[in-house]
Amino acid sequence: MSDVLIIGAGPAGLACAATLLAGGLTVELVDAGHRPGGQYWRHPAPGSAPRDGRHPAYDDLHHDLGTYRALSARLEEATRAGRAVTRFGHDVWSLTRHGDAWVAASHDRGTGTERRSRGRVAVIATGAHDTALPFPGWDLPGVFTAGALQALLKGAGVVAGRRVLVAGTGPFLLPVATALARYGAHVVGVHDAADPRDWVTHAPAVVQNAGKVWEGVGYAARLARHRIPVHARSMVVAAHGSGRLQSVTVADVEDGSPVAGTQRTIAVDALGVGWGFSPIVDLAVTAGCRTWPSSSGPVVEVDEEQRSSVPGIYVAGETTGIGGALLALREGELAAHRIVQDLGRREVSTEARLLRLRVDRTRHRAFAAAMALAHPVPAGWADALTPTTVVCRCEEVPYAAVRRAVVEQGARDVRQVKQLTRAGMGWCQGRVCEPACRDLVRSLTDRPPAAPGRRPPEQHPRADLPTPRLVALPVPLGALADSDLADGDLADDDLADDDLADDDLADNSGM
Ligand SMILES: Cc1cc2nc3c(=O)[nH]c(=O)nc-3n(C[C@H](O)[C@H](O)[C@H](O)COP(=O)(O)OP(=O)(O)OC[C@H]3O[C@@H](n4cnc5c(N)ncnc54)[C@H](O)[C@@H]3O)c2cc1C
Repeated sequence: MSDVLIIGAGPAGLACAATLLAGGLTVELVDAGHRPGGQYWRHPAPGSAPRDGRHPAYDDLHHDLGTYRALSARLEEATRAGRAVTRFGHDVWSLTRHGDAWVAASHDRGTGTERRSRGRVAVIATGAHDTALPFPGWDLPGVFTAGALQALLKGAGVVAGRRVLVAGTGPFLLPVATALARYGAHVVGVHDAADPRDWVTHAPAVVQNAGKVWEGVGYAARLARHRIPVHARSMVVAAHGSGRLQSVTVADVEDGSPVAGTQRTIAVDALGVGWGFSPIVDLAVTAGCRTWPSSSGPVVEVDEEQRSSVPGIYVAGETTGIGGALLALREGELAAHRIVQDLGRREVSTEARLLRLRVDRTRHRAFAAAMALAHPVPAGWADALTPTTVVCRCEEVPYAAVRRAVVEQGARDVRQVKQLTRAGMGWCQGRVCEPACRDLVRSLTDRPPAAPGRRPPEQHPRADLPTPRLVALPVPLGALADSDLADGDLADDDLADDDLADDDLADNSGM
């Protein structure tokens, strides 16, 4: 058994692993991706062929690759020394306590086999995924989330269209638009439902993060170079096409709703819509960690030391709230410092370094809170829906069915909507439609949306919290049949085959 089991090898998980190793602890790191880096340092998929020899030079699509290389070099070195084990391409579907160990059950995407990984303590750093909201035509081929456009470019060298419109809200739309333009797309416009002038009211958070200002200036220059117009207070209300996307309708936004009479139609063959990110909390919820409803969805509650409400589980990165890669790095490192102390190893950093990390975390959190306030999802986004607009794509549930479930049948949370309509019961298990369903329940029952910010409100409606599921991800039935996790008792013998023998790990106690 390793000292620390980390789930998620994005910026938070990597920073955590590197610091733990420096502190003399052993680590097992499990991630669904084929390499470390997470969403931020996304790598080309194995075997993805260069596109006409014009495969994007990944270096120029990534920020801060020096940090990535330094962190992964430390991990590789420790792996060679037998102090770290990495399992990539593994979907973790359960995290449970057995005796003195946290046990993660994972499914190996490559071989289809099951694994058990164990640690004396566990770190959950599972990040976030794109938030998608439905609108008429959003299920046409050619309509993507903004993150998917970016992931296709970074991960496969694919520029998803010739004439592309990027919409939604938030600064993330800018790297997506400029990267696509740089690799040959004609980006016809960026439509942000918010108004950048709203940032003026958040001057203190902006001033503390001067780097972000320079980043913004850089994007403004690139937008100008590629002649990409930015339309503030504008959103996509429909996508049209026969068999695939041919055009979109955009409308002005006022008081969070599309304004009647301002619609215009624009010819495009690809559309990327980004409404921010939703934290991935399934494993934390399954393990019993307390969550609270932020404006980007449920997030895991942590204290100042990145400890969750469950002893032995630490949480870092966007699972605790959306805030970007720099914040995730700081949180990962701070979680590791706490663990090093909790497991009785020598501290690896000076007090000055720890203070610096905490100050950095505070200022990045302040910027994240300002961003959430300046770029809210428009409260009236659902005004664009028609009764036949599909809300749950896996189970093909239309808006009319969700509305009926809430207004006529009395559903008061996403679970009840799911029971009445099957929305969220399909392959993605609600990852795509749950934010929309949650918001629809709120607006149809006149409940106010969650307030933007990073602090849990004193009281929050239970209806907005996720319910635990024993199996956090869809796995083949065989995985469950082979497992005795369901009866809550995993014998040590079951672990022996897959598990790290203590002998495999060098004794680091003297480090
Ligand atoms: C699609 C997308 C594109 C983005 N593009 C950019 C960009 O271009 N520029 C930018 O500045 N920011 C971008 N971001 C935001 C940025 O990626 C995050 O701010 C940052 O990566 C957060 O780091 P993290 O460590 O918290 O999570 P992540 O980087 O998301 O890492 C989490 C890791 O956990 C793994 N994981 C999750 N669940 C499981 C599970 N059950 N089993 C096994 N592994 C699991 C994932 O595979 C992932 O590697 C993007 C985000 C997304 C979702």
